[in-house]
Amino acid sequence: MHEMSLCEGIRGIVEDQARAHGFATVRVLRLEIGRFAGVEKPALEFAFDVVMRGSPAEGARLEMIDLPGRAMCYDCAVEVEIDNRLDPCPRCGGGKLMPVAGDEMRIKDMEVV
Ligand SMILES: [Zn+2]
Repeated sequence: MHEMSLCEGIRGIVEDQARAHGFATVRVLRLEIGRFAGVEKPALEFAFDVVMRGSPAEGARLEMIDLPGRAMCYDCAVEVEIDNRLDPCPRCGGGKLMPVAGDEMRIKDMEVV
């Protein structure tokens, strides 16, 4: 379950930010999650609750924002949105696609007190 290590990474960022900006509590943390990031949301929520204990983000609400998967189609020469990594191009049906976005996960912003 890589959700635990993802949350440990988030905790590190939260603690650095708390030190740098002098806040004590995070109320809401918004995470952007790419379609292909392989994150299981229930597992992530569970891991978030466990890992944030004792940190400024303990008890914070976790909001997850889905980012679409995007790929470059070599036949159309444009970027298209796809739901699955192996989907054909939705414009031309071609299979020569290079994923360009969708496996990222990052903190979008936080509401802090
Ligand atoms: Zn295409």
